[in-house]
Amino acid sequence: MNYADSARIKAVLTNCWFLYTENIEESDIIIFDTCSVRQKSEDKITGQLKEINPNKKIWITWCMIQHNLRNQKITSKELPENLKRGNFLGYLQTKNPEIIGITADEINTLNKNQLTHETIWINHAFNPLFYTLKKKQENIELFRRIDDTWFLPLILQKLGYQIQHDQEVTNEYSKIIPEWFNTSMNNHKKTAYIPISSWCNQFCSYCIVPYARWLEKHYPKEQIIEEAKRHLVSWCKEIVLLWQIVNKHPDFVDIVKDVLKLEGLERLRYTSPYPNFYTPELLKLHETESKLCPHIHIPFQSGSNTVLKAMRRGYTSEQAKEFIDNIRNLKRDISITTDIIVGYPDETEKDFQETLDLVKYGKFDMIYIGIYSPRPGTYAHKNHPDNIDRKTKRARRDNLNEILKKTSQENNQKEIGQIRKIIVDKKDENNMYWYTDNMKQIIIINKSDFKINVWDFVNVRIIKAIPFKLYWEIVEN
Ligand code: SF4
Repeated sequence: MNYADSARIKAVLTNCWFLYTENIEESDIIIFDTCSVRQKSEDKITGQLKEINPNKKIWITWCMIQHNLRNQKITSKELPENLKRGNFLGYLQTKNPEIIGITADEINTLNKNQLTHETIWINHAFNPLFYTLKKKQENIELFRRIDDTWFLPLILQKLGYQIQHDQEVTNEYSKIIPEWFNTSMNNHKKTAYIPISSWCNQFCSYCIVPYARWLEKHYPKEQIIEEAKRHLVSWCKEIVLLWQIVNKHPDFVDIVKDVLKLEGLERLRYTSPYPNFYTPELLKLHETESKLCPHIHIPFQSGSNTVLKAMRRGYTSEQAKEFIDNIRNLKRDISITTDIIVGYPDETEKDFQETLDLVKYGKFDMIYIGIYSPRPGTYAHKNHPDNIDRKTKRARRDNLNEILKKTSQENNQKEIGQIRKIIVDKKDENNMYWYTDNMKQIIIINKSDFKINVWDFVNVRIIKAIPFKLYWEIVEN
């Protein structure tokens, strides 16, 4: 999702004649499009902020500051009295917003009657965290909501930038369709990430996402298909449909079918689906449609019914197994990956064994293992004390990793002899990194006579397998 959001920020800024670079050294402004799903993500950003050259300006948006807005409890007398205001939920429907929040003085001179639904809050007014960070790091210039991206030209003018932009301001965040020339987040990318909905209503007990934005909103099918078409007429070969619960979109199956019909498409993927919202028709498409990747990432989180209930996930381990059976019964090999959280409050050894049981049953190709860390403001944080010690959490993670390694080796062994279409993901001095249509990574030693570019599609035959990696040889197309 951050890729898709960043692409939209980039689309609006290039429309204001900013130039985009991924080279920090040559940049003047560094934009942090933040994530706060785990505490680790926030810690990483805090660390990176300190490393930024003080001559460069920093803008920060999205999850980390939006959810922290709710949790800020700054009592310093230095704070302006109106500071705790903030609108960070929902869309602002206006063409003529008032933008406030640049200085503490400005906030305090505001007449409360001036604060209407047409006010955009930035910096101090948007989030007291700005006040704290700005004192340590003077080069932070902008704090704002992601949903105000469409208003960036006006926000920047308010900050003193002399800019021009040639689009009408409507704040239809969902309608910022990145144009083909400025969507990719690097120069060669052939993958377009298309959000089909925004936000999440599921309120899993441990998750911060529902607190970072507003209630879920589905984008119209026609708009999604239009965006896919725009990408495919130019540089794009692979479409990834995105949302926190991507298959909950009421038209999801139709969207998949319609995108599959589009000219120029080589691959279609989507992430992340939720077990409860799969339909037999969607699963069947994986069997019949060769361009729909033979891979399903399905986050199960736990194999214990007690833990799943505490997490408010809405399914049981028996239903998870039945779902795995339905995938395995398709007449096409589908790789399955999942997310598991270890050390959720009160997770007993028996609960963990039930998770191991699910993991062995699922024979997953990859498990993204998260060690539970409480996220302030969530139901779990308020109601379930984080009572599993760090040593136990780590031991459970290591135990899962051991099983994963073994399964990955067994699954990869079955790939030997298969012909797969792979896409070159990235290249550095020593290696090339690839992934197959079933989302397995291939790494090779770079060779000078190797005439393949990043984002090329190539057919390869798998010749050797180790855990998490496949080796290959090129097959003539
Ligand atoms: S489905 Fe649950 S875990 Fe996923 S984003 Fe929504 S609340 Fe978070």
